[in-house]
Amino acid sequence: TDRTLPDEIELEDEFVAHNYHPLPVVIAEAEGAWVTDVTGRRYLDCLAAYSAVNFGHCNPIVTAAAKEQLDRVTLVGRAFRSDRLGPFAAELCELAGKEMMLPMNTGAEAVESGIKVARKWGHEVKGIENPSIIVAAGNFHGRTISIVSFSDDPDARVGFGPYTPGFRTVRYGDVEAVRAACDETTVAVLVEPVQGEAGIIIPPDDYLPGLRALCDERQMLLICDEIQAGLARTGTTFASQHWGVEPDLYLLGKALGGGVVPVSAVVGNRDVLGVLRPGQHGSTFGGNPLGAAVGLSVVRMLADGSWQQRAAELGTVLGDALRGLIGQGVTAVRCIGLWAGIDIDPALATGREVSERLMERGILVKDTHGSTIRMAPPLVVTAEEITWAVNQLAEVLVDL
Ligand code: PLP
Repeated sequence: TDRTLPDEIELEDEFVAHNYHPLPVVIAEAEGAWVTDVTGRRYLDCLAAYSAVNFGHCNPIVTAAAKEQLDRVTLVGRAFRSDRLGPFAAELCELAGKEMMLPMNTGAEAVESGIKVARKWGHEVKGIENPSIIVAAGNFHGRTISIVSFSDDPDARVGFGPYTPGFRTVRYGDVEAVRAACDETTVAVLVEPVQGEAGIIIPPDDYLPGLRALCDERQMLLICDEIQAGLARTGTTFASQHWGVEPDLYLLGKALGGGVVPVSAVVGNRDVLGVLRPGQHGSTFGGNPLGAAVGLSVVRMLADGSWQQRAAELGTVLGDALRGLIGQGVTAVRCIGLWAGIDIDPALATGREVSERLMERGILVKDTHGSTIRMAPPLVVTAEEITWAVNQLAEVLVDL
């Protein structure tokens, strides 16, 4: 064993399944956009737990909502009702312009639930015996068996068969490919409006409007997985809004739990979510009072649009600064709101190597694939901090 590593790393490596390859930093405390490790060293968090900490670590409004709820009631199960779920659901629906929500916990559960709802809707409303769903190449929707069944990332998929049938994968960004793939069994198209794990892939402008029109024409559901893209990250409440598109179902998670507890939801209209009746779907913790109280505080923070505006404004700072690095070790930058995918010249370094170098300089980022890194700081970050972080990246690239 490496004696220079803190005990916490050795413990994790010994007792925790090695399903991640974390950077060697052990975080003990956090506030806003900054985290502090066990030795007292501070780092600017430029990942924000994959956008789950959009409103900052230990956001005082979210923390207060959680603390207040902790002393009242935290879990009743859906066998009974709580005084928190209704208000949370109503305000979330208002934010999304939809009629109903289905509360779950993790992102993958929201995706699974959206798939179940689409299949049930296909059976009941369209009379389809074996419904199929179209998904996009390069997708990332989570880690459950059904979801990895339609992943094209070998790490995510290989060795986990047998796979769930009923999905067809077509090129991302290509409406005609979706049109060609759909037939009388197709009930839904499931997409990320911006692909996150794939490296912040922003589709062509005709993609989402084209999918919306195609789904309307063929009476299929458009399901937008906004779990990483939604809730202010891209400068709008939902990333689909950049293209003026309203899906039939929103899948939400991550930031919905304020970085405190897992809270996810499927949000849609009664004609779709209404296909679920008692006993047909559920979750012990889904809609729990603690999660609902936290979720309600998040929805209320999003109601006046200021977080969205902040993400848009800071996103301009981030995007402009990053584009200045193109040709200086960076081959491409994709930025939407405060969310950037940065392709490092693969001849220079892997994303992992750049992430390690940035860590040494007090900045935490995560590589996505190969030589791509992602920057998604909490939206409380300042323009000065963004500029500093990008300058550090520039210096790392010079040193390579
Ligand atoms: N969908 C998208 C777009 C995601 O980015 C993620 C997680 O990264 C998920 C679903 C899965 O969420 P969870 O890890 O909470 O299951």
